Amino acid sequence: MEQSFIMIKPDGVQRGLVGEITSRFEKKGFLLKGLKLLSVERPFAEKHYEDLSSKPFFEGLVEYIISGPVVAMVWEGKNVVATGRKIIGATKPSESAPGTIRGDFAVEVGRNVIHGSDSVENAKKEIALWFPDGTVNWQSSLHRWIYE
Ligand code: UDP
Ligand code: MG
Repeated sequence: MEQSFIMIKPDGVQRGLVGEITSRFEKKGFLLKGLKLLSVERPFAEKHYEDLSSKPFFEGLVEYIISGPVVAMVWEGKNVVATGRKIIGATKPSESAPGTIRGDFAVEVGRNVIHGSDSVENAKKEIALWFPDGTVNWQSSLHRWIYE
């Protein structure tokens, strides 16, 4: 089954949005396979965002991600990568639809509350980076009420 790496950024943790955000993924029917609160150091943040290293906002982005603890999660389910991006909303909160996490809780692109993998391939890379010891192997007893 497909998995996505979802991270609540330091602003989301500071603003007390952890429950609200995890609740949206849970209620959708996705399965929580990994969850941890941690602070990351600069080289780790740079590795996570290495594809963006040439962008003008890269330095500020790394400062943002290391500015406080983040919640790192692995969510599993059919089409969870693409659907997770829809739940999260557009990168710029001014363009994120109401009802999405960024549309409801963010104003600026540099404080947009949450990260979600943008492809299945990147999800695999990010999960390996953030959860090197693997995730939790379990299935919900609700599976047959969510999948036909
Ligand atoms: N970002 C930024 N300024 C920009 C574009 C992106 O500060 O002009 C930040 C923003 O926090 C974004 C992150 O860099 O979430 C990663 O950018 P990406 O294009 O991968 O957006 P995402 O996949 O997070 O929607
Ligand atoms: Mg991205």
